[in-house]
Amino acid sequence: MFFLFAPFFDIFRFDIRNNEFIFLGNHYSFTTSNGIYLALGFISSLLVFIILSYTKGRVFCGWSCPYGSVIEFFNAIRTVFGSGTNRAVYDFIKRSDAHRILAQVLSVVFLLIGPIIIALGLSAYLVNPSRILTIIMNPSALNSEAALGSWILLFSVLTWIVGFIVRFDFCRIVCIYGMGQSIIYSSNDQDKTLRPRFNSELSECGSCTACVNTCFVDLDPRSESLFIGYGEGCFNCGDCADVCSVVQNHRGKDSLITFRSNKQ
Ligand code: SF4
Ligand code: SF4
Repeated sequence: MFFLFAPFFDIFRFDIRNNEFIFLGNHYSFTTSNGIYLALGFISSLLVFIILSYTKGRVFCGWSCPYGSVIEFFNAIRTVFGSGTNRAVYDFIKRSDAHRILAQVLSVVFLLIGPIIIALGLSAYLVNPSRILTIIMNPSALNSEAALGSWILLFSVLTWIVGFIVRFDFCRIVCIYGMGQSIIYSSNDQDKTLRPRFNSELSECGSCTACVNTCFVDLDPRSESLFIGYGEGCFNCGDCADVCSVVQNHRGKDSLITFRSNKQ
């Protein structure tokens, strides 16, 4: 949500038409000195991400990546129609037929307007947000914004394709930033890094496979070889530890998976 709304509050955006960038409400033209500040800001952010990746692994992927959020949004919709793994949605539709039908109707509505909202939000990084707001208030204004209209259509189709087909294969195979995080993380001492740790025997699980089912990148968090690897690695989202604590709390026991660093 932050990434979606940041340009509307002038937190950070570019204004291509006026040849300037906006940061925390201040407007800066693309002069050489401002360009240096922009570059320094970029390098500082990069350093923060490198340190974060070194100590915490792919937490950006698991906790705040906008692409990942879109895929999880589609996972919720797929759950409504029987093929996703979102626990909250699953619990909701199981309550009654009325809940299931309501979820189906809302899913179709979100499926249609969700990509449009995201496309408009991303556009606001380059196009003045007031133009975007005009279109939201008066959709017929799109008639005079052919480029924006084409972008929304293209983006919607791409969103449906990545949401239903590509999904996390993009993160595994294509995303350079994801690979970079994994490479940086794997160079750290694995005993010291944040990650899920299975602290028991498989026999303790019985027939339960809740953590395997909940892992949105199809890993088995109990595996000794659970890695963090370049392609198939864990995203450090912590969902497996969460779901195990729910399962084990029902049994009056502690979670078999912890999500922590082994710093002591
Ligand atoms: S193994 Fe656990 S922490 Fe890693 S991605 Fe899967 S659910 Fe998230
Ligand atoms: S959720 Fe816990 S009890 Fe269930 S399979 Fe995973 S580790 Fe075992």
